[in-house]
Amino acid sequence: MADIRLKNSKTRRVEPLEPTVTPGKVSMYLCGPTVYDRAHIGNARSAVVFDQLYRLLCNEYGADNVTFVRNFTDVDDKINARAVETGRPIADITAETAQWYLDDMAALGVLEPNHMPRATAYIGEMVTLIEDLIARDMAYARDGHVLFRVRAYEAYGKLSGRSVDDMIAGARVEVAPYKEDPMDFVLWKPSADDIPGWPSPWGRGRPGWHIECSAMSHAILGEEFDIHGGGADLLFPHHENEVAQSCAAGHAFARIWMHNEMLQVEGKKMSKSLGNFFTVRDLLDQGVPGEVIRFVMLSTHYSKPMDWTEKKVAEAEKTLRKWYAQASRALDNDTAYVGVENALADDLNTPQAIAEIHQLSHAHDVPKLRASLRIFGFLDNGIPSWAEPDGTDMSEFTRRLSNLRNRAMHDKDFSKVDALKQTLLEAGVEVRMSKAGVELLPGPNFDRTKLEDL
Ligand SMILES: [Zn+2]
Repeated sequence: MADIRLKNSKTRRVEPLEPTVTPGKVSMYLCGPTVYDRAHIGNARSAVVFDQLYRLLCNEYGADNVTFVRNFTDVDDKINARAVETGRPIADITAETAQWYLDDMAALGVLEPNHMPRATAYIGEMVTLIEDLIARDMAYARDGHVLFRVRAYEAYGKLSGRSVDDMIAGARVEVAPYKEDPMDFVLWKPSADDIPGWPSPWGRGRPGWHIECSAMSHAILGEEFDIHGGGADLLFPHHENEVAQSCAAGHAFARIWMHNEMLQVEGKKMSKSLGNFFTVRDLLDQGVPGEVIRFVMLSTHYSKPMDWTEKKVAEAEKTLRKWYAQASRALDNDTAYVGVENALADDLNTPQAIAEIHQLSHAHDVPKLRASLRIFGFLDNGIPSWAEPDGTDMSEFTRRLSNLRNRAMHDKDFSKVDALKQTLLEAGVEVRMSKAGVELLPGPNFDRTKLEDL
């Protein structure tokens, strides 16, 4: 077993992962999507990076010993706005968008986490946590709102490395009459009759965004867990606020914080106005295979900004075609390759792991190459059809059938010819035999897997 080391945003150091909360078991929480629209490729980077970490953890600790939670934020003002725009019920929008997310991520080889809690199913836990914070004087209720008292929590700013005064100087803090201090942030807010709301000790209302993750991680993983992940854009204020809420309630919370850096497109920030904004679904619809998207995402280390380029897409496709062709010559095996595992264990160094696979490819070490592609999630459903090496190439079977036929004409025993012909027919191949030779034509129902045992 490789020793996994991860860069902890909290200490800014690479530290050994030592799951001591429950020895031998690892728990991880990842901030998931707010479900009102298709995931763009920037959103997908976080899902793919932490999927790769999840796969590494399962590989090292055994899948039964890893608990991975990724939430759906299904109560949010952006969702409410989308419902007003479209005239559709909120529940329809969130259910549809959550399913889109799962489908799109599955196309990128992202495994479903063990738990996918929806915020609206944990309102009771959020109210309990907020009441606890009020009881500890870390929060206060005013005019239907509940606010977290930032200055009462001394360690505020430690995770993101900011001081409260710096934050006030540079931040877009909202001054409001119900706030004691402009830095205080919302735990609960009142809901007008036409938007979602739940009964609470402070009147009908809905939770602030940050409290969701504190309440759901606590409910599912407990007061302390091993890894908390998310995009670097969530470090402040979202994660800083999660820490404040959970730790002020007396929870030890996450031991290691990990943040993936952002994604650009052709060197520019992705934005709708620049016309370089696209969703995962856009790419899939354009015919870019999910495996290629995953490869491009993982070819940059998660802690570095990544640039999405057409050139990288073309190169990734070429590389994967070659690797799949090689891997098709090996059987599934457990030949773990220590070079790839060590690279992944070293703070999820995916570009180094990919370099190691290139070496295996150059050396034609197909069993190790195949095993390594499996660790990367590239073989979950076998070799994808787009990368089938010459999927309809019949030259090998044509040659075999002609040789058998030539021998049979001599021996007057056609049983082997008939057997091969029968298997080809069952695989959906039309067999034409004439004096001129043998011709094999794969039909629309051609299934190459039926020829694998030949
Ligand atoms: Zn979160």
